[in-house]
Amino acid sequence: MSEACILTVAITGSLPRKRDNPAVPITVAEQIESTQAAVEAGASLVHVHVRNPQDESPSSDPEIFARVLEGLRAHCPGVIVQFSTGGRGRDPAERGAMLSLRPDMASLATGSVNFPTSVYANPPDFIEQLAATMRAEGIKPEIEVFDLAMLYTAVTLAERGLIAAPLHVQFVLGLKNALPARRETLLFLIEELRMLAPDATWTAAGVGRHQLAVNHLALELGGHCRTGLEDNIRFDASRLARSNAELTARVADLCGRYGRRPATPAEARDLLGLAPCG
Ligand code: ZN
Repeated sequence: MSEACILTVAITGSLPRKRDNPAVPITVAEQIESTQAAVEAGASLVHVHVRNPQDESPSSDPEIFARVLEGLRAHCPGVIVQFSTGGRGRDPAERGAMLSLRPDMASLATGSVNFPTSVYANPPDFIEQLAATMRAEGIKPEIEVFDLAMLYTAVTLAERGLIAAPLHVQFVLGLKNALPARRETLLFLIEELRMLAPDATWTAAGVGRHQLAVNHLALELGGHCRTGLEDNIRFDASRLARSNAELTARVADLCGRYGRRPATPAEARDLLGLAPCG
């Protein structure tokens, strides 16, 4: 019997990509429609950033997050909704402002790292505060591991009770100045996670041209997969991706090669220890 794989679709992100690929959903209506199509293609978890409607810049406005959450609950029943607390273009004090809306999950980077042209700053007290808020609101964190130390910090936070076990970790590979998209690197990360947090689940995300190769690796090595226009706007070297659904379908089609199948939202909730959808 094939093993279920949670397909995460990161629909929007925070880079100014509308002009680079018009398929990136920006408005709330576009985000709901794009998620719905990706869910039909096999996604069971959606990773959400929101934008200001005026200038398309990244937003922390809880009102916009609330409209997306409401739309997703109505049009994509059961899908796991994960809000980004990521830093690009957002004031640190506001990065957790929407957690009071109690999405199923939220991203939590457990350290600082260099991005291609900037520093992604996550000081220790800031991480602990976000983790404590998630814990208080009953939100499961997705630990974003952009660099090795973030894995160990996450384990320490779990030992201290700031993050509830079992952990769910995402390894982000292929981002310039951070972890490379190498098989050996991922094998090491998985082995460390197995030793330190044996009950943890993991996803891998490949950035840009590494997206597809990392999808293959995650399927082969028993992890879960992330795709979507946030991480990669191209289908391949020859053309832009047409939609989040197109990228999701590509991973869904690969699953069978590795004895895997896309998890349904209900299966994904079970795998992550989330409450069944009401
Ligand atoms: Zn993101």
